[in-house]
Formats: sequence, C-alpha cells, structure tokens
Amino acid sequence: MRSVEGRWIEVADRVLVRRHTELDLSVGLVVGDGGCLVVDTRGDERQGAELAAEVRRITRDPWTVVITHSHFDHSFGTRPFLDCPVWAHEGCRTDLVENGAAARDVWARWYRERGEDGIADDIAGTEIVLPDRLVTGGAELSVGGRAVVLAHFGPGHSGNDLVVHVPDAEVVFAGDLVENGAPPDYEDAFPLGWPAALDGLLGLLGPAGGTVVPGHGDPVDRGFVVAQRAETAAVAELCREVAAGRMTPEEAVRLSPYPEETTRVALGRPVAVG
Ligand SMILES: [Zn+2]
Repeated sequence: MRSVEGRWIEVADRVLVRRHTELDLSVGLVVGDGGCLVVDTRGDERQGAELAAEVRRITRDPWTVVITHSHFDHSFGTRPFLDCPVWAHEGCRTDLVENGAAARDVWARWYRERGEDGIADDIAGTEIVLPDRLVTGGAELSVGGRAVVLAHFGPGHSGNDLVVHVPDAEVVFAGDLVENGAPPDYEDAFPLGWPAALDGLLGLLGPAGGTVVPGHGDPVDRGFVVAQRAETAAVAELCREVAAGRMTPEEAVRLSPYPEETTRVALGRPVAVG
C-alpha cells in the first residue's frame, strides 16, 4: 500500500487545489451548497481513486468532473468518480477515442523505463473514461448554486484546452495553458494559437486580481500569466519565422525564452492554428 500523496490548498472561499509530487500536478475542487466540481482526475485509476477519497474528506456532496484536456495526467483517473457527469471540450473526447489507448501504452512504458513499475502497472490497467458532457466554445454550470464557466479559447497547449472559471472567487483553472516551475509543454501544442488562448484566459480575470491554477506547479497571479503570454508570443513568432524560411532553427533556439529542447519541439509543431 503506497502512502497517500498530495496536500490541499484553499486558494479562495471553498475553492481548493490539490498539489501532488508526481509530475508536480495540480487538480482542483470547487465546493458549492449540495454539489462540488472536481477539476481533472490525475493520471490513472489508482490515483483517481486516491483523489476521490481525498475529496470525500472535504465534502460528501455529489460531484461533477471537468477535464481540462485529454492528456493522461489530467484525464485517466476519471473512472473512480463514476457515475457522474464528465465535462470536457469535444476535442478531448475525440482525442481520447483516437489516441487514448496509444497514450496509455506510451506512458506505461515511460514509467517502466524509469523503474516505476507500480505507476506503469496502474496506467496499463486503467480504463479510459470518455467525457459525456461536451463543450464547443463554452458552458456555464451551477455547482451547488455556484456559477462555474467553462471556456475554450482555441488550440494552445493542446487542441482541446478548457479553462474553468469560478467568477465569485476570481479563480481560473488553466490546465496546462499555464505552467509554473517548468517550461510549457509543446509536445501536442499549437504554438501560434497559445498566446491568443492566454489572452482569452486573462480576459476572465479582473485587471488587478485573480488566482490562476496551472496544471503543474503552484497557483500564480495575473502577472505570471501576462509574462508567460509574452513568452509564448515570442515562441509563436520564432515558429512563424522558421516556417517562412526567414530564420534557421538554430537562431530560433538562441532567441527563444525557453530551453533548446522545448523550442525544438515547438518548431516541430504545425504552424497553422488548429
Ligand atoms: Zn497537458
């Protein structure tokens, strides 16, 4: 029996973040009167069950799940939460249908090669749950009487990023559109769309305030997101220049705000948005 991992932080009135050592992952919990919303479910069924048990220590109210995007570490832990509504962008469902099983194999192998057989087995044995409440542009939920807005601002970190806004608390769960403590992950990204997606996210916050919860790392403020928006815009421009043949990849790597590996991955992604 592995020990329970993670700790809760209350970032605003009844809006909680659970921080995990594994992948530095942050997931969310919004508690209303008679209902709650779980934002992301972690990376496999065992981790999801652990999260579900920890949510139950906070509230006994029925839950709804929202998945910020299809990547395994945010979406594979859903099964222990069933039966409940599972919200996501429509592209999240499509990606899980088309690529979920392959991603499960890839990540199980990734953990096994690192000698983490326990997590590898957990991922390999996970049943991928498809979201059943699909969002195209946006949706508004009532979580125990509390308004929660789901919004998609176009392709960015992935093709199916959904941000979760709790207006009464000025909290936005950003998924991996915002990353704290490591460079943003461009593996599955649309570099030219990323800055616009962050503009959309910033538009949800007041000019001064708000808390933004990244998919990985500690919560951040508006200024952090403004800075990351500028960095992703710089990377988008470098991608555009290299694609147009006006710059070599080596120059782009030199000028990039991010490490070489991150920049090279970004340069390899589609230049068209979406
Ligand atoms: Zn991701």
